[in-house]
Amino acid sequence: MPWVSETPPTSAAEAASSPCTSIVVLQDAAQDAVAYLEGVDDRPVAPTAEAIAGLEALRGALPEAPTDPRAVLEMLDRFGSPATVAKNSGRYFGYVNGGCLPAAMAAAWLVSTWDQNASFRVQSPVAATLEETALEWVRELLCLPAGTGGAVVTGATMANFSALAAARHAMYARAGWDVENDGLFGAPEIAVVVGEEAHPSMLKALGLLGMGRNRVVRVPVDRQGRMRADALPHLDERTILCLQAGNVNTGAFDPAAAICPAAREAGAWIHVDGAFGLWAAASARYRHLTRGFELADSWATDGHKWPNVGYDCGLALVRDAADLRASMSIDAPYLVLAEQREPAHYTPEFSRRARGVELWAALRSVGRSGMAQIVERTCSHARRFADGLRAAGYEILNDVVINQVLVSFGSGEKTLRTIERIQQDGTCWCGSTVWQGHTAMRISVSSWATTEDDVERSLAAMLRAAQD
Ligand SMILES: *Cc1c(COP(=O)(O)O)cnc(C)c1O
Repeated sequence: MPWVSETPPTSAAEAASSPCTSIVVLQDAAQDAVAYLEGVDDRPVAPTAEAIAGLEALRGALPEAPTDPRAVLEMLDRFGSPATVAKNSGRYFGYVNGGCLPAAMAAAWLVSTWDQNASFRVQSPVAATLEETALEWVRELLCLPAGTGGAVVTGATMANFSALAAARHAMYARAGWDVENDGLFGAPEIAVVVGEEAHPSMLKALGLLGMGRNRVVRVPVDRQGRMRADALPHLDERTILCLQAGNVNTGAFDPAAAICPAAREAGAWIHVDGAFGLWAAASARYRHLTRGFELADSWATDGHKWPNVGYDCGLALVRDAADLRASMSIDAPYLVLAEQREPAHYTPEFSRRARGVELWAALRSVGRSGMAQIVERTCSHARRFADGLRAAGYEILNDVVINQVLVSFGSGEKTLRTIERIQQDGTCWCGSTVWQGHTAMRISVSSWATTEDDVERSLAAMLRAAQD
């Protein structure tokens, strides 16, 4: 079998193409990855300036001659690994970024080795089967209606895009307009209603769909960023209403239980951006926050946030998957199509990485109870951060309902200075934001790997930085 040949390649060109090189270079990669993970706790979370400067070694012109794959990997590890942000350290609290569960990480390796194209079943039965299975598990964990279908895409941005494409299809089909084939020129008007605090990716998705980033009706929000149910405009069967489950700053949820029944009654399409917040439904303790969102028509969420699947993994879920299919399906004489669900009928992409396998592996490894524990543990860590910072005299700007904390260290200037010191210290990493006019530091606890010790070490580093 050529894959296990012991004969060393005689030239770089041969090395680059010899199958046995795959085995050797994978062994190298395994060693490098193990060393990386072993070191991840003892290095600064953000890379040093020196490490970033080292990346210059990877620039330059494309060499004329081949390079031995092992040498390529060696360069990557030597210059690339130190210039990473240590997301798997358990002390990265920036944006809303999870870590990567061991099963998901290992599955990603295997998937790369398989080199599957997840577009059609005939190209990868395993990708199609695991994606379908994982989507159903997600539907159950998020307490969404039976029969809901969906797609595995790159992130919540594309999930919002895909779900809104389904919404657009449904709205226009009702109006007797074939939007996929005839486009939006001359089409009847559809109203899009969003909260004042809608995530920018929602607006980007609307722009990509030709519905306009600015051509939206914005509903005022309360102090936590929740859409005000009493301030909703008129809704009807030509309205797409976009709700949010989990504000990126505060973690707050729009009051779906107060909004959705009447919005449904009015015939509006309800879409939910629940990039991370929807996963609260996986925990009996936090499920109440997601009440009412199950009445929506479509949902966008991320595998790479709270479920701790590696990048990239987003999920578009649609109550009547036929609407998603109508907006995304594709056909040509050369395509071999199965009777069963064909992934490419539901995604914006055609050829696609089999990212559903990693999602399957992550969920299979943690199970229902493990997913609930990730939610509960990270929320409890967030409360500890809030309590510790408040006890030291700093103001917490949000109600800490889930895993998000906003803290002010005093003036905007002092807060920014403190954040800079925290980032430079390297014990942990947090970013900044402006919340309703106040500069704040964001703490998002989203990693399965964060321990109580990580929280205490990080809290101490934050207080040190604030007191300096
Ligand atoms: C993170 C986030 C997004 C964007 O998700 P990506 O996976 O980065 O595309 C959208 N909406 C909300 C509420 C988010 O938190």
